[in-house]
Amino acid sequence: MSSTQLRYHSLNEINEVYERLRTTFNTGKTRPIEYRRKQLSQLGRLVQENLSALEAAVNSDLGKPKLEAVGELNGVVAGQVDVVEDFKKGWDATVYKVPQGVALVIGPWNYPYVLNLGPFIGAIAAGCTCVIKPSELAPASSKLMEDLFTTYLDPDAYAVLNGAVPETTHLLELRWDHIVFTGSGRTGRIIAAAAAKHATPVTLELGGKSPVVIADDADLDLVAKRVLHGKGQNSGQLCVSPDHVYVPRAKQDAFVAALLRHYNSFWPKGPLHASARWGKIVNPLHHARLRALLARTKGEIVKGGEYDGETRIAPAIVKNVAPGDAELFGPILPLVPVDNTEETIRLMNEQAVPLVIYLFTNSEDVKQQFLQRASSGALVVNDTTSQLTLYEMPFGGFRDSGHGRWGGKYSFDTFTHLRSYINVPPAAEPFMGGRYMPYSEEQYQMMAAIVKAPLPKL
Ligand code: NAD
Repeated sequence: MSSTQLRYHSLNEINEVYERLRTTFNTGKTRPIEYRRKQLSQLGRLVQENLSALEAAVNSDLGKPKLEAVGELNGVVAGQVDVVEDFKKGWDATVYKVPQGVALVIGPWNYPYVLNLGPFIGAIAAGCTCVIKPSELAPASSKLMEDLFTTYLDPDAYAVLNGAVPETTHLLELRWDHIVFTGSGRTGRIIAAAAAKHATPVTLELGGKSPVVIADDADLDLVAKRVLHGKGQNSGQLCVSPDHVYVPRAKQDAFVAALLRHYNSFWPKGPLHASARWGKIVNPLHHARLRALLARTKGEIVKGGEYDGETRIAPAIVKNVAPGDAELFGPILPLVPVDNTEETIRLMNEQAVPLVIYLFTNSEDVKQQFLQRASSGALVVNDTTSQLTLYEMPFGGFRDSGHGRWGGKYSFDTFTHLRSYINVPPAAEPFMGGRYMPYSEEQYQMMAAIVKAPLPKL
């Protein structure tokens, strides 16, 4: 667990910040493109000039290796650079594309930088003011973001407010103009209900069970390597972590053998050895939850599952598992044997819609089957987690895994209202007589001409 003490903001402070940001928004300060570009550059500087501190904070929270921390921050800098450059190319940020207003971003603990700052880029780009409420479970990262914000960004327009459930509940009583929430489905429903009281639009980025599907033609060795790599990210505590694997029944043992080969090459001295740089489970509660899952599995644990105290758990491979409901969110890889991809599609359609499906195949027919008959936020063929490196693609769930999206230009759209504007010239009046009362049959016939227009012959 992180040793950082996080001071929660008082309810009065929350109110003060909210009032300040709303006043700023109303003055129009955040609207000029030059202002937005400046703030976005400042966000880029915030990351670049504090890289070591940011890496250290998330290491203290999650034991996250430097390589994974910088991978997360790449998204923030790349997103920021793209937006600043797009402005130069002349995004049509005219009066027609108006900022939603005062925005709230609520983030989870597992990728505290990119899941707070990523959507935030969209809020700045759109001309909103914005409060970020990071997770109390990553206190070092949350505190550092709060500290750095006051140095780098305009405090009249942007703030990090820290706290847990009471502080967030209070925040949600205020009227926001857009909320982006990333976290569990359970909390997401609470956020959506609170937002509904003010008719506030919400983007929900929720969790779920993102499955891996191995088709008959897949190269098992490559699948094993890419799945184990994906599962290894942040000890499986990733919303798009490969949750479980549908494997052809006849190939399960060959797949286990391939997984074991890569297991031994990724962690030659074992995942709990210091040389493995294997991240932490966020807190003892989650550690106990994962241990309990392993203790009561009806499957067969073929590798891993050892743990040191309440900090780490060695990745566990479990075979002959029946499909389950709860998101694992940890380093456990259950293999679910199936007869064919037809059975997989049937099983998946009985479950909640995942954020992503990882499909391993080279068959165009199988790809089409999954595009057309299975649902998910995204469909990734022949890899895991690499969709996260395509910053310009929309990132978002579908149905159970959420709605709305951010990423690249989509972040700007999320915080932007498209306002229709028409100017009806007085000189048009002579052509508008047909719409005025009292209605005559002639007027009716003129109006009905539209409904009677010839239809295309098909
Ligand atoms: P969480 O839902 O417990 O917490 C997320 C945020 O909500 C935190 O800031 C927390 O303080 C706040 N919160 C918690 N309970 C609340 C309540 N009752 N009222 C108001 N606010 C509350 O989620 P978490 O444990 O931080 O994150 C893990 C979950 O997030 C997993 O389900 C994971 O799949 C999901 N996730 C989704 C994405 C995505 O992009 N779709 C990304 C990362 C994580």
